[in-house]
Amino acid sequence: MKNFCVVVGAGLAGATAARVLAEAGERVFVVEKLKHIAGHAHDEFNEDGILIHTYGPHIFHTKSERVFRFLSKFTRWHYYQHKVLSYVDGMLVPFPINRDTIAQLFGLEISANDVEKFLAQEVKYSDFREPPENFEDAVISQVGRRLYEKFFMNYTRKQWNRDPKELSAEVAKRIPTRSNRDSRYFSDQYQGLPKFGYTKMIENILDHPKISVLTNCDYFEIAEELKGKLIVYTGPLDEYFDDMYGDLEYRSLRLVFETHEEEHYQPVAVVNYPNDYDWTRITEYKYMTGQKSSKTTVCYEYPIDRGEPYYVVMTDENMHRREQYMKEVSKLEDTGEFLFVGRLAEYKYYNMDQVVARALEKVLKWLKEA
Ligand code: FAD
Ligand code: UDP
Repeated sequence: MKNFCVVVGAGLAGATAARVLAEAGERVFVVEKLKHIAGHAHDEFNEDGILIHTYGPHIFHTKSERVFRFLSKFTRWHYYQHKVLSYVDGMLVPFPINRDTIAQLFGLEISANDVEKFLAQEVKYSDFREPPENFEDAVISQVGRRLYEKFFMNYTRKQWNRDPKELSAEVAKRIPTRSNRDSRYFSDQYQGLPKFGYTKMIENILDHPKISVLTNCDYFEIAEELKGKLIVYTGPLDEYFDDMYGDLEYRSLRLVFETHEEEHYQPVAVVNYPNDYDWTRITEYKYMTGQKSSKTTVCYEYPIDRGEPYYVVMTDENMHRREQYMKEVSKLEDTGEFLFVGRLAEYKYYNMDQVVARALEKVLKWLKEA
């Protein structure tokens, strides 16, 4: 009789699943391929003593009280509202596009009402399909071609190495357009960073007498020996099935960190560079973490094809392959012995809160039915 559960991956999905199972009385083994826990949300102090996010900038934001409450059991929060500027036409302007962006770019004194009229005119004189069929249509239907070309077209080509027409309109839904002066990147009710870091928070989630964690161990190397009554898999979807329907594409990043002997390097946490340079954005961590230091560390993101699987690539081809894999997932999940949860395992462009929500939902359902 198998009397334990196995969780593959110690990122947010895996840690949440493990905790919920443990609290329900299950014995849980967590197996993590990397030398550390926390997956892509990992953070650490660098040699200059600055808290950095190892895999690129992570800001927690959610509308879900349930998710916020769950995580708040394991961390206090540094409340932070994320701000981004975009380097366009030689100026640093607020992004997402708001009233101040338009005023600065076009040298206009403009009211909220005028912004709506301005955008409606921009859209009216642009060509796009309605309803939008892809990323380009979706953005143009909101802001028109002129602003699309200034802020989105080249950033998207750089980020995804794809024509924006090949990408799903879903990706565009991540970025709002505002006629007011709200310059926050996210408008969710709960926003911030774990006060002592994501790694510490995830360490606390995993800190339960019924959870054992083994890092530096690839699940597939020990899968035969480790047959639990439930396998919660949070690794890449295609890898689980030996690429039987072909590779799912992941876009990766080359991250270049630099420490500067000055209190601040740039005016806000993130500056986007849609049209210039090979990097997409520069992040200065101290703005996000609230850390005080006479030095500061920044991170340049250079998108690349191969490497850590960071981003799912939302093209029709990949989404079609995903569907084929998800049919296999359904078959396995129907046995009651498997759950596939998280950004890699579901091949979904999830934020951290969505991953936690999915893990809570799927594991609680499994416990109820077990
Ligand atoms: P992961 O964190 O990837 O964890 C999966 C784990 O499984 C990994 O640790 C991996 O090593 C392990 N694993 C895989 N295969 C095996 C195996 N065979 N054996 C053992 N272990 C295995 N979200 C936000 O909410 N806000 C942000 O600001 C934000 N910014 C981001 C910026 C970047 C650059 C990236 C890439 C992502 C960002 N995200 C952000 C998304 C966030 O990182 C993810 O939603 C979340 O971390 C996914 O958690 P997960 O547990 O599903 O996957
Ligand atoms: N995007 C853009 N210009 C920007 C910022 C974002 O065109 O200045 C597009 C781009 O395609 C990007 C997507 O919007 O991949 C989602 O942006 P987000 O900031 O959510 O990306 P993430 O933080 O997930 O890298």
